[in-house]
Amino acid sequence: MRAMKVLIIGAGLGGLTAAIALRQQGMDVQVHEAAGRLEETGAGLTLGLGAQHVFRALDLQGAVADRACPAGVLPFLHYKNARLLMGDFDTGDGRADDGTADIVRHIYRADLQQVLIAALERLGGRIFTGRKLVDFAESGDRVTAKFASGETATGDFLVGADGVRSAVRAILWPGDQPRFTDHVAYRFLVPMDAARPFMALGRSAIFIGPQRTFNRYTMCNGEVVNCAGLVETKEPVPEGWSIGATQAELAQAFEGWHEDVRGLIGHASNIIKWGLYDRKPLASWSRGRTVLMGDAAHAMLPFLGMGAAMAIEDGYILARALTLESDTDLAIARYEAARQPRTEQVHAASLVQGQVTQAIDPDLFKPASAPMNNMEMMAFNPVIAPL
Ligand SMILES: Cc1cc2nc3c(=O)[nH]c(=O)nc-3n(C[C@H](O)[C@H](O)[C@H](O)COP(=O)(O)OP(=O)(O)OC[C@H]3O[C@@H](n4cnc5c(N)ncnc54)[C@H](O)[C@@H]3O)c2cc1C
Repeated sequence: MRAMKVLIIGAGLGGLTAAIALRQQGMDVQVHEAAGRLEETGAGLTLGLGAQHVFRALDLQGAVADRACPAGVLPFLHYKNARLLMGDFDTGDGRADDGTADIVRHIYRADLQQVLIAALERLGGRIFTGRKLVDFAESGDRVTAKFASGETATGDFLVGADGVRSAVRAILWPGDQPRFTDHVAYRFLVPMDAARPFMALGRSAIFIGPQRTFNRYTMCNGEVVNCAGLVETKEPVPEGWSIGATQAELAQAFEGWHEDVRGLIGHASNIIKWGLYDRKPLASWSRGRTVLMGDAAHAMLPFLGMGAAMAIEDGYILARALTLESDTDLAIARYEAARQPRTEQVHAASLVQGQVTQAIDPDLFKPASAPMNNMEMMAFNPVIAPL
């Protein structure tokens, strides 16, 4: 029997994970990516526990952990006086471990993407760059993707893993747009040598204050500090890596904050200003032989650091469903039944986490009200979850 041929649109973390898991099951997989080159963009990511269960199942956890920083604890600190509000101080040195401990890790997005690309190529999966999907059509039991270059690709199944501005979603549900979440993220990296005077409170820290959060942690074997300042705003800001911001704008947004926050901002260069958008949950993620996953299906606010983990979990469960069911309708039904409740819960909890941590007065913050302490949700294991 001919192996099922799956076209995956988007070589992000979700699409690549799905491709690896499908390839390991012997399926014929093609990944089509709009970018002309898979170059180093992005900053740091939080890798939740579910994502790492997936990497263990795919025999990739060692390679991932090798590039990651272990984050045993995530301390939440008062924005002015750095009083510990939740968690514990993170005294780790940020050096990579062997990946066996069941803890959150931080990783540079480009490093993780490189690990996944190398794994897929070893398995013989193909990645086509410069292939921006503009349309697709079904004919009988086949689906054909059309790219801006004029090229086409035909397969048995199409996966829209093309991120928050998904073209696949726009074709399936015209008029459905990403929603601005009234938040902007300022992102920048500081070399550890410059950051060291402002890291006495540990290698990771999340400062919370009125309508703002400042999250900083080390990555790249402890040599770089990833900084993200999240700010509420009513002024819509576009999303992407092309919009810069000045140090003065960022300093003004965090005026009066703890000296470690201001110190890191004092060393900020190449600041990226990224409007945060989410996608509203859909009743269904599929039509015919096409299905959505990752940010295309459920982009969410970053307050739980679970966006990447959700895409990675989706990719693995989709592959499990397509392996269990040769009938694609049944496979999609199993995938949606497993993933929609999970991602809707995390989507809603990410919003609540932001609301409770950015309350007007952090002295009134109650850790018990923070979804991050819902261990059943945070420690979900997609490898053994019922399907
Ligand atoms: C360049 C980039 C950098 C990022 N950096 C960070 C970061 O530093 N920290 C963080 O927390 N999150 C970051 N994110 C978001 C984070 O990676 C995602 O929220 C999460 O991993 C969800 O993954 P995904 O696979 O669903 O989508 P994404 O990771 O967004 O991947 C989607 C992929 O689809 C491609 N694509 C889009 N449209 C088309 C099309 N029409 N045809 C073909 N391909 C298409 C995109 O180029 C991208 O490679 C970044 C996303 C991108 C695209």
